[in-house]
Amino acid sequence: MNDKLRCCVRIYGTGYSFKGSPCTKPVRITVDGKHYCAIHDPAKVAERRAKVQAKANARQEARNAHYEVRKETERRAACFDTLVAACRAAQYEVATALHDYQFTSEKANNLNAVLRQLETALSEARNKP
Ligand SMILES: [Zn+2]
Repeated sequence: MNDKLRCCVRIYGTGYSFKGSPCTKPVRITVDGKHYCAIHDPAKVAERRAKVQAKANARQEARNAHYEVRKETERRAACFDTLVAACRAAQYEVATALHDYQFTSEKANNLNAVLRQLETALSEARNKP
C-alpha cells in the first residue's frame, strides 16, 4: 500500500476540536474506495464492537437473572408472616381437637376455617391460584 495515503477515520476526544482529528496511521486496506489503517479496518471494528456487545448482553442477562431471584425471594418473604400465622392457628386447632373427646360441629367449623386459611396461605406461597 501507498504509505502517503492516510486512514479516512477521524479521531474524537483527543483534543479540543469538535471536528476531531484525522487518523495518522498508514493505510492497510481499501473498502469501497475509502482507505483504512489496520486499527480502523471496518471488519475488525465490527468484530471488536460485537465482542463488546456480547459482553454487555451477558452482563445484562446476569443482572436480569439476579433481579428475578431477588423478586422471588421478596415474594416469598411477603408470604412468610401469613404462612406462620396460619400454621400456628392450625397447630392450635388441631392440638385442641386431638385432646377433645366431645368433637362438636362448632369445632368442625373451626377446623374448616383453619383449613381454608391454610389453603389460601399455601396457594399464595406456591404462587398458584
Ligand atoms: Zn485509522
